[in-house]
Formats: sequence, structure tokens, C-alpha cells
Amino acid sequence: MDVSDIAQKVAAGDRRALARAITLVESQRGDHRAQALELAERLRGLGRQALRIGLSGTPGVGKSTFIESFGLMLVVQGLRVAVLAVDPSSARTGGSILGDKTRMERLSREPLAFIRPSPSQTHLGGVARRTREAVALCEAAGFDVVLIETVGVGQSETVVAELSDLFILLLAPAGGDELQGVKRGIMEMADIILVNKADGDFKAAAMRTRADYAGAVRLLRRRPQDPDGFPKALTVSAAEGLGLAKAWAEMQTLVEWRRAHGHWDSRRASQARHWFEEEVRQGLLVALTADPATRAAMRQAGDAVAQGQTTPDRAAADLLARIAKR
Ligand code: GDP
Repeated sequence: MDVSDIAQKVAAGDRRALARAITLVESQRGDHRAQALELAERLRGLGRQALRIGLSGTPGVGKSTFIESFGLMLVVQGLRVAVLAVDPSSARTGGSILGDKTRMERLSREPLAFIRPSPSQTHLGGVARRTREAVALCEAAGFDVVLIETVGVGQSETVVAELSDLFILLLAPAGGDELQGVKRGIMEMADIILVNKADGDFKAAAMRTRADYAGAVRLLRRRPQDPDGFPKALTVSAAEGLGLAKAWAEMQTLVEWRRAHGHWDSRRASQARHWFEEEVRQGLLVALTADPATRAAMRQAGDAVAQGQTTPDRAAADLLARIAKR
């Protein structure tokens, strides 16, 4: 693969080249890895930034419906929209949802849109890196908005939040009056909560749910660096396209405020640092477990611990000390 050729095409916004470039960054092969790093390095110089929007919600809440109508609304405004999914396909009910052809069918036909199916890798660290690099590629390709979707399972929200400028939590209207078992940590990350399906018979329940969450989210998290009223909870109907323009306006308000106050740049900077450190940590783990001597020492110490000859902590401390000396 000619890296300079593909870099040029990606920079020109060629969607096929973008798809190939993402395939390259997903590859586990050593030579591909080197090419992927070179590609990223070349494209970094363009200095292009998209608005990265992380979107989380449990299966069935309406994420694909939302992305389709929200994406179409943006495309009509002339914005270029890319959609990426973070979760390994095994984490999704019913297989790879993004692989399902009926998902976002209309959006996928739009010339200004780019939709990338979920990768098949299951290792979260690998998925995080691939998504991060795919986001950067979409930015280099000149997309204005990159939507990064995740289902509400495991740690993928944290990954998405660390990749996004804005984190949106999509909820369904609740029947009862208790909060829907949404993990506190996810709520704390949300900049905007959207209660979907605010239409027909669900409308009243959606309004109640919105009010519940508006109160809860403000108690949970008040960011001194955000303007008054955020985090916000709003109602939308992805199916009927209701409230989407308002949601977009609120997103822009928040983003503009953060840009004007330097928080956009500082968030990007701390994310870059986070991913660098994460990459080093992952690399160290891989290097250690690939080393036969370390693996043998691990096995031996593990046996000793299992047989009660030493404590887990003593054995770990000894092993780490030996590794540190090398
Ligand atoms: P996902 O699993 O989060 O991607 O959810 P989907 O977008 O596939 O939607 C799950 C179900 O909810 C589908 O049957 C949709 O038609 C329905 N749905 C999605 N958005 C809305 C909405 O705004 N209103 C109503 N009434 N149903 C919706």
C-alpha cells in the first residue's frame, strides 16, 4: 500500500480511501502498524478537527434511529458526518448491529455521510485504539461531525468519553419513577441527556423521565467550566425528528462556550496525554507477556501462590522487582 497516495486521497475526502485507511489501522500486522503510524503522522499536519460526539445508550433505546435522523439533519445543512461504533460486535445483542444493512440505510446513501461498521476485534484496548485512529482519519478527511456510538455495556463509555468533545446519553422513557439503573459513572460523563421516543403514547413518560434526569444529573455533576444549565436533559423523538434541532443547538452552545474559554483545547490535550499513557501501558503489558522468561516466572510464582507457599502480594512484589531490575 502506498501510504503517501492514500494520505492524499484521505485528505481530499475520498471515502473509499478513508475506508481503506481504517482497515489499515485495524490490522494487527506489524508492517500495517508501521504504515498506519506513518499515515497518521502525515495527516496530523493538516490540523483538521471535527466535532466528536460520543453517543451511548442501551440496545433498543433508539441509537441507530437517532443517528439516522440526526445525521440526515446535519447533512441537509451541508455538514459532513461520519459514524463509528466502538463496541466489539459480540457485545451487541443480535450480532453486529452496525453490520445490519437496515441500520441507517438512508444516511448511508448520503454522499456527505460515512458509516463504518463495528470492528470484529473483541479486546477493548484494541477497539479503543482502532476507534481513536479512525476518528483522526475522519477528521483528516474533512468530516465536520464524527459520531462515536457505543452500547451501554462494560467500559466502552469511558473509552468513548475520552475520545469525544461531547458525550451524549440516550435514554428511553421510564415506566416508573425510579432512574433506569443507569450507572452513575455514565451519568456523570454525560454533557447532554436525550430522552428518546417522546412521541405518541410515550410522550408523557418521556417528559417525566426528562425531569427526573434533569434533576439527578445536575446534582451529580456540575462542571465549573461549563455554562449555566449544563449538563442538560432534553426530550427527542428520533423517529419523528422532534427536538433534534434543539438538541443540536444545545450541543453547539456548549461547544462554542468551551472553545471560547479554552476548555476545548485543554480537553483535547488531556485526552492526547491519556491515550499516549494508555498506549505505553498496553505496550508494556504486551511486551511483558510476550517475553518467555517473564511468562515462565509468572507461571512459577503463580504455582507457588496457588499451593499456599507464598502470598499473592509477596509473589507479585518479588516478580515486579525482578522485572524492574532488567
Ligand atoms: P438501538 O438498538 O439503540 O440502535 O435502537 P434502534 O434505533 O434500533 O431502535 C429500537 C426500536 O425503537 C425500533 O423499533 C425503533 O423503531 C424504535 N424507536 C427508535 N426511536 C424511536 C422514537 O423516537 N420513537 C418511537 N416511538 N420509537 C422509536
